[in-house]
Amino acid sequence: MIHVEYRHNNSGGSDWVSPEGWHALANAGWSLDTHHGRTYGASKDFPSLRAGIEEWTTLTGADPTDEGCNCCGQPHYFSGEDTTTGEWHYPKFEYTRPRLVWED
Ligand SMILES: [Zn+2]
Repeated sequence: MIHVEYRHNNSGGSDWVSPEGWHALANAGWSLDTHHGRTYGASKDFPSLRAGIEEWTTLTGADPTDEGCNCCGQPHYFSGEDTTTGEWHYPKFEYTRPRLVWED
């Protein structure tokens, strides 16, 4: 299994996961990480990192590829640790997404 960890960065000073989104994650079995009353992450075991991110996307309605603001960086970080080998996995879309798309 892959222990999928999600970390939230309130890029630009706003929350990128709604309260309803956090509730949906908790109801689906994600363990929420809270500190001083704020939720900043969640984790759950999945067959693959991709499966975890896909469920997170469905439950939160958020976009895992959001880029956030220039100074604070991306609001959504995902990683996955193989519970057998200890190997870490990171989503490939961070590196393949086009950064600039001309429309004309
Ligand atoms: Zn910023």
